Amino acid sequence: MSLEKKVAIVTGASRGIGRAIALEFARQGCDIVFNYNKSVDAAEALAKELEALGRKTSFYQVDAADFTAVQAMVKDVKAKFGKIDILVNNAGITNDKLIVRMKEEDWDSVIDTNLKGAFNFCRAVSAIMLKQEDGRILNISSISGVVGMAGQVNYSASKAGLIGLTKALAKELGSRNVTVNALAPGIIETDMTGVLAEEYRQKLLEQIPVKRFGKVEEVSKVAAFLVSDDALYITGQVLQIDGGLAM
Ligand code: NAP
Repeated sequence: MSLEKKVAIVTGASRGIGRAIALEFARQGCDIVFNYNKSVDAAEALAKELEALGRKTSFYQVDAADFTAVQAMVKDVKAKFGKIDILVNNAGITNDKLIVRMKEEDWDSVIDTNLKGAFNFCRAVSAIMLKQEDGRILNISSISGVVGMAGQVNYSASKAGLIGLTKALAKELGSRNVTVNALAPGIIETDMTGVLAEEYRQKLLEQIPVKRFGKVEEVSKVAAFLVSDDALYITGQVLQIDGGLAM
């Protein structure tokens, strides 16, 4: 098991890609701490599954966008687990609209959750990882941040921002054995993409060379590789997992 005895924080793990990442890391021997925003029952169910895999787990109802609450959560994790080896910034939302209809709060909520949320966690774990002289940070961006998507100026900006954060932080932390990478998934089957109109889904499918949407496991297994010691010489990179959609 390549993540044996590691401790990971996975943000927004109650559902979707974050949940799959938490379970995959746990299968590979990692203890898991996660936060979520609203889905209490789903969070409790995940904690039970992680414990059934024989892992230590702890979970927090903490809004990723809340700077003070995130700092307190990470402090508590360090006190309980003694170290933090891995951080996956996965918590994210969409609020799609054309710009002419986008309200200020539509912009703010997406930037605050997706981009400031990642900053909040990176800010909290960086000092710990620098001191440990060891750490892995993985940010879940999107192809929307690579190529831009109409109807998503808020989301595309947040995900492009995450790519800039990834590269800058990789340069800051690299000399102390801390790697920082990003994944840019295409269309993955989760609640987030389940709400897309059928007509739009068909249009997207036509543009995907492999002619299907991705599965959460196709993201979580790559995530596990990127935070493992097999990927120690990879930092500042953005890896697309999109069936060829954004070439
Ligand atoms: P999802 O099924 O909607 O799940 C989102 C998760 O994030 C939930 O567990 C949710 O928790 C949590 N979350 C949302 N806001 C939060 C907040 N303020 N604080 C803490 N947790 C919060 O979405 P997904 O498809 O798995 O997406 C996961 C990540 O992958 C996101 O960053 C998304 O942008 C990115 N992504 C997804 C796709 C895709 O096709 N699905 C493609 C590219 C990138 P609650 O349920 O408790 O609110």
